[in-house]
Amino acid sequence: MKEKTASAAGQTAHASQDVTPKYFKLEEFSCRCGCGRNNISPELIATLDKVRESAGIALRITSGCRCAKHNEAVGGKSDSAHLEGLAADIAIGGSHERYLVSKAAMAAGVQRLGIGGSLVHMDIDKDKPQEVAWLYA
Ligand SMILES: [Zn+2]
Repeated sequence: MKEKTASAAGQTAHASQDVTPKYFKLEEFSCRCGCGRNNISPELIATLDKVRESAGIALRITSGCRCAKHNEAVGGKSDSAHLEGLAADIAIGGSHERYLVSKAAMAAGVQRLGIGGSLVHMDIDKDKPQEVAWLYA
């Protein structure tokens, strides 16, 4: 996994990919195009476990890591935190879920939230503005 991740990523190699998520499988964070890219940040996984714990509901990841090609295909920004394995999109079924997930994310220290009709994006990219929440049109 470690070798594969490093070579497939070719970019950011996180200090430790040995973190075992409590509530997630590492595969859930692989790039959705099937390229195998998975450079998910251990810090993000630890954060998501906290979010899952306090939200008290199952969280489905719809987008974790992305290769540049897939990021472009789904309309991601060219400097998207998904490229660095620092972001996850979580499927949202309704307003109560959106509330629970957003609240839990903030409680877990997430400082960047994107709110959409069917997803909540959260990332821990320290190189981007902190304490922000935006909407997806
Ligand atoms: Zn890909």
